[in-house]
Amino acid sequence: RDTTPARMRSSELLAQDSLIVTERAVPTPAMDEVLVRVASVGVCGSDTHYFTHGRIGPFVVEAPLMLGHEASGVIVAVGAGVDASRIGSRVSIEPQRPCRTCEQCKKGAYNLCPDMQFFATPPIDGAFCEYVTIQSDFAHDVPAAVSDDAAALMEPLSVGVWACRKADITAGSRVLIAGAGPIGLITAQVARAFGATEVVVTDVSEQRLAFASAHGATRTQHAGEALADAHFDAFIDASGAEPAIRAGIPAVKPGGRIVLVGLGADELMLPVNLLQNRELWLTGVFRYANTWPTAIDLVASGRIDLDVLVTKRFGLDEVEQALLAGREPGALKAVVQPWR
Ligand code: NAD
Ligand code: ZN
Repeated sequence: RDTTPARMRSSELLAQDSLIVTERAVPTPAMDEVLVRVASVGVCGSDTHYFTHGRIGPFVVEAPLMLGHEASGVIVAVGAGVDASRIGSRVSIEPQRPCRTCEQCKKGAYNLCPDMQFFATPPIDGAFCEYVTIQSDFAHDVPAAVSDDAAALMEPLSVGVWACRKADITAGSRVLIAGAGPIGLITAQVARAFGATEVVVTDVSEQRLAFASAHGATRTQHAGEALADAHFDAFIDASGAEPAIRAGIPAVKPGGRIVLVGLGADELMLPVNLLQNRELWLTGVFRYANTWPTAIDLVASGRIDLDVLVTKRFGLDEVEQALLAGREPGALKAVVQPWR
């Protein structure tokens, strides 16, 4: 790590509403890790929530925490067990460290690892800083045609890829997606790329629906408008809104799939009779596993455009503005570029 400095700048959340820019030691890559000079980090709703509330459910910010888990960069150093030829590679970071030895990890469902360490989830730091380490195989190479921002947004794209896999989207699928935030919009593009011929997106925001029409949706509908009964092969909720979930379920054909991505109420009313009579499959999703190669190929081949989602860019001194940028009308995705 010849040219890498010993110290770096970092943005740290001390507690609710309290964010500072400070300095830390640049981390040293462990045996199986690489050191990445961070290029771009997308802001997610969960980052904003940690800033405005100091916690998400049981995860409470109790020590200085770097937020940001949608990150890209360049490998600048490697641990002793990693091939030095990786230095210089542009990578998209898969921001999780599973244990690799438990039952879930061994069967490939590593997103369900009980010992998962996930970026920007207390006490695990995220990427609003100049350098991060990650296990070598979770730093995924991206081709030159993929921008730094797009490489960072492979993370929300992975949520969409995982949701579409769970929904069994295939050629000719008819898909209903509730919510046209970044996740719903990305999922609409993924559904199209997976071969869906009908992708209906609903939202309460006309501005977001207009965006959905331009990028992925074959049709949009204002939330609350009646949906065709038993018409869709799959319904993916990316809103977390109970009315959207309850309206979406009867729109699914017998044998169809319901995938709950959005986080909302802990409990909700379900039409059990309909689930039974139509033999509907209903599942939640927890992030993703084994999605990065697909996500990168979808973007590199031009099937999916992530750059269109980026509405504003910020530096490390402007993380607070970046975290609150989502509130501005027309905003979709803010990114932080630490070296900006
Ligand atoms: P977002 O808040 O930007 O998007 C939610 C959208 O839903 C908004 O555009 C909102 O206007 C819309 N909405 C509200 N009520 C609606 C209704 N009744 N019908 C249709 N749309 C409605 O959030 P996002 O970043 O796009 O993320 C979407 C959801 O996915 C969030 O709840 C987020 O926490 C969740 N999420 C889950 C996972 C997971 O692993 N399960 C991963 C990432 C994000
Ligand atoms: Zn595990």
